[in-house]
Order: sequence, then structure tokens, then C-alpha cells
Amino acid sequence: MSNQMNFEIRQPSPALRFPVTINQRTRTTRIILHHYHSETATPQDVHAWHNDRGFGGFGYNFAVDMDGTIWEGRGIGAFGVHTAGNNHDSIGIACQGRYDDRTTAMPDTQFNALVALIRHIRSIYGEIPILGHRDVTATACPGQHFPMDEVRRLEHRPVTPIVQKDTMTACCPPTEQQVPTPTPNPAQPPLTLTDFELDALCRMVWAEARGEDDLGQRLVVHVIRNRIASAEFSASRLLEVLFQVRQFAPVRDGAFDRATPDERIRRNVQAALSEPDQSQGALFFNTVRLRETSEAAQTRTHVFDHMGHSFYR
Ligand SMILES: [Zn+2]
Repeated sequence: MSNQMNFEIRQPSPALRFPVTINQRTRTTRIILHHYHSETATPQDVHAWHNDRGFGGFGYNFAVDMDGTIWEGRGIGAFGVHTAGNNHDSIGIACQGRYDDRTTAMPDTQFNALVALIRHIRSIYGEIPILGHRDVTATACPGQHFPMDEVRRLEHRPVTPIVQKDTMTACCPPTEQQVPTPTPNPAQPPLTLTDFELDALCRMVWAEARGEDDLGQRLVVHVIRNRIASAEFSASRLLEVLFQVRQFAPVRDGAFDRATPDERIRRNVQAALSEPDQSQGALFFNTVRLRETSEAAQTRTHVFDHMGHSFYR
């Protein structure tokens, strides 16, 4: 056995091209661990998913593949986009794998690489706590089979020669559910906005749904309208809803501020303001890839999916 391992942080190739300027943190007090919820995803795949979500690309500072490859994501000093409300002072590491439904253990290769990476980070920032995403926000990530206690001991596992590879089930994309067609909800009251509020709403639609079709963009407006009408959010005005703490990611990750709404978005926002609710009263939406792991997925009623978004009441 040996505690030696080659420690190398590799750059994804082809390189991840970030569509935004990556800001640097000013504080580092925690390491937050995640899983990909996929055994096969590459950094480029996750980069694309996070771009779709408006995160401005790969949200983690680092990632560790099941074969022990360590990838640089945003880099060690960067402001990540991985744990809502907790990105300003933490380093996010994602492990390839599905540790919510895997019944076999994390491979030694991945475990030892993760431990080496955490030791490296702590050699720079001191003995900062090691947390799971679920310790910070309501989520199952990084999954019940993630060896959190063992990781926290930071001892490499003795490596035995691998005779046969784990029998792993190939990762399948989430099965597409049959999608009920959105239907009008006549309960939604009309909304009149100032020019300033209208611009803010267009920015949010750009940040959340610029890649969606016309209905997908209008659905974001309907969720916001439903929130204004709902007693649940104690926010009765548009700006209160948009800037409510821990709600819309674009407010935190800067996408809202750099938004450049185009004519199609403005048209769809206006259309959604003057039409009946098309969202069946939805109050939440997430990217469909988080349909099993997001807080909304675990605590709310799924209503339907439309393009990249799952909607919940
Ligand atoms: Zn996570």
C-alpha cells in the first residue's frame, strides 16, 4: 500500500470558455462538495448544463472524475456558482458520479484524488470545514452514498490493484416525462408595471430563459406573476419578488446585471403580462436536469416541463 499519489490538476480540453468575467472571492471559509448526478458527464457537459441555467458556465471550482482525474473548473480563487447563497466564501468541488442512488462505494481512485485536492486547498486556506451541499441548502447533493465522514478524515485509502472494473450502470439522461400542455389559470390578477420594473422583468427573463422558446420565456413571467399574487412569498410587488433572498439565481450570479434583453424577450414579456396564466399556477422552476435533486423537486408538486425548465407549484 502507499499513500503516495501523483497530484495533478488538469485543464479540461477543449478548454471551457466562460461567457462571463469570473470574479475572485475575497473570503474562503469552507469547502462544499457536490456530485454531478451522472457517472459519465465530462466537464464540458456540465459546462453546457450550467450555461443553460444561466450560471455563466461551469459552476464548480474543481471537479474529480471517477478515475481520479482532477479538473480545474473556475479555479481555486474564483467566485463559484454551485451553492445558492453560499458561493461568496466557499470552494465548490463536484465529483463525477451518482451518489444518491449508487449502491457501490466511491472508487478508490476518485476518493484519493478528492482527498489530495482537499489537502492542497487546505494547505493554502488553512483547515477550513468540509461540507456537503446538503449541509448548506435543502438538497440531497452529494447523495446519501457519498463517503462524507471518510472524506473528512482526509486519509488516502490503500490502493489495491484493480482486477475488474466496477459493474456500473451507465448513466442515462433523466427519463422524459409525458408533458401536460400548459393550460391557462384564470386566477392570476393583472399586473401594471413602471418602465423600471418592466426592464427588470425583461432582464430576469433574459437571464433565466434567453434560450427558451416564446412560451418558455412567457412562463418565467407567469411564475413571477404567480409569486406576486401568492401569499406564500410575502412579496406583493415585482421588485420584491425578483430580489427576494435565495430565490432567483441570476441576481446572485450577476446574470441579471449583465442582461441584454432583445426584442423577442420584450415582446414575450408584454404578451405574458396581458394573457391569462399559462403555467397552471406554477411558483417555481428549475432546469429539467435538476428534476430529481433541486429543492423544488423535493418539496413541491411538479406541474409540467417545457423545454429546459421543470415547473412546480
Ligand atoms: Zn450540489
